[in-house]
Amino acid sequence: MTKVFTYDCTLRDGEQCEGVSLSLEDKLLIARRLDEFGIDFIEGGFPASNPKDIAFFKAVQHMRFEHAQIAAFGSTCRKGVAPQDDQGLRDLLECGAPVVTIVGKTWDKQVLLALQAELDENLRMIGESVAYLKAAGRRVVFDAEHFFDGYASDPAYALACVRAAHEAGADSIDLCETNGGALPFEVERIVAEVAAALPGQALGIHCHNDSGCAVANSLAAVRAGATQVQGTVNGLGERVGNTDLLTVIADLELKMGRHAVGERNLRQLTEVSHFVAEVAGMPVSAHHPYTGRSAFAHKGGLHASAIARFPEAYEHAKPQAVGNDARMVVSELAGKASLLQKAAALGFDLEAEGADIQAILDDIKQREARGFTYEMADGSLALLLMRHLGQYQPAFTLESFRVIVDDHEDRGALAKDAASEATIKIHVGDQRFVATGEGAGPVGALDTALRMAISDAYPQVAQLELADYKVRLPDESQGTDALTRVTITTADGQGTFGTVGVSENVLEASWNALVESIEYGLLRMERQNG
Ligand SMILES: [Zn+2]
Repeated sequence: MTKVFTYDCTLRDGEQCEGVSLSLEDKLLIARRLDEFGIDFIEGGFPASNPKDIAFFKAVQHMRFEHAQIAAFGSTCRKGVAPQDDQGLRDLLECGAPVVTIVGKTWDKQVLLALQAELDENLRMIGESVAYLKAAGRRVVFDAEHFFDGYASDPAYALACVRAAHEAGADSIDLCETNGGALPFEVERIVAEVAAALPGQALGIHCHNDSGCAVANSLAAVRAGATQVQGTVNGLGERVGNTDLLTVIADLELKMGRHAVGERNLRQLTEVSHFVAEVAGMPVSAHHPYTGRSAFAHKGGLHASAIARFPEAYEHAKPQAVGNDARMVVSELAGKASLLQKAAALGFDLEAEGADIQAILDDIKQREARGFTYEMADGSLALLLMRHLGQYQPAFTLESFRVIVDDHEDRGALAKDAASEATIKIHVGDQRFVATGEGAGPVGALDTALRMAISDAYPQVAQLELADYKVRLPDESQGTDALTRVTITTADGQGTFGTVGVSENVLEASWNALVESIEYGLLRMERQNG
């Protein structure tokens, strides 16, 4: 099977999506998950300008990726500047990413009007920038911005631009459908013409979904010879979004006989879709291709026996192939096999320990119906398993907590700026501890107070750090007394884990997630130390 390289832009283009804001911790979580899924290239962002992205490139240098290579994104050198004197290009090299993707203009009008450069100067910028990065030993992707508009306006000039990148040794030239308005038959024809003009050159495709054709355009490009597809998880991106890389992967594997992540990894598709949705706070539509809850749900009235006799009549693909079992609640834990696998990853052999697996599945299903999700909460899942196995011992018990929030109108948003104070009364064994802590927000204050209260009994709690905190409304339709889901990511020096709390009261949800983060953190440390 011919390989098609998968190039994920979720951390750059996906983050442009209205309503999405990814913290450093979020970006690292997504990168790790995409690596496990078998994505070939993960674009981390702009190392030149954005402090969060600079921190990302620093952090990934200390992470081991099984498969993926990290790409840094930037532009060609500026007009009138040699590449070695261009700070942006130097930043791309200094960030240490093995792959560098630079965007350059290929539409004559853009060059003349937006860049206000001579057409030949733009060719120099492209060729010299690619050559400079290649000489530094990087894998170089040239993103040909506005290529399809450029090709419509002046095909000879658009081709001259990508030829400059080709002659300078670009490893892949990715044609960008920047405005998102092209249609599949145009994309297929133009990609075929570029492939014919640059024999032997690896080509890629980067589409936006403004005409509703991003996935179709990407598949058309592959048919015409492209060997790399760029896109984002669930199609996250500005305006109407980018190519949904997950849909493309499933189509390539299941319908076009191409190898993208492989049949085995393809079964993670639904899980990856929902994981990134949870991290990004952008739920997957029930009707999302392949990964939505309704993607394989059959209409009422259709007899199960009819489906069983001739499933092809009702399903375009096997839901199991993409990890989305028909009619089941979408969850990575929906089935026995995936629960056993997930439990094993957390260090539990449920069968050997004689667990009632059906009872655990029922418990998880009930909790999911109440707004819990375990996609980002492996710590809470481990505690849940321990409760079922009779291994759970609370590290402490709460007598009461109280939070005072002192808000000042001129300081703006409550959670960020208000001074908060929390008092906690807890018991460890037969000892009672009372502590008061302060924080910028109520959750920070609770966190400080809880740590102070248990630090005598558990001094190792100092090694646990609250890395991230998220609030989600699991069911947005319910209005003000809707449930709130709080997810906390905790770092312990060895890695990170998540815990979840759900309540109608945000403080209670936070408290529950916080308690589980401390409890699981202490247990994890105990296990790691033997
Ligand atoms: Zn884009």
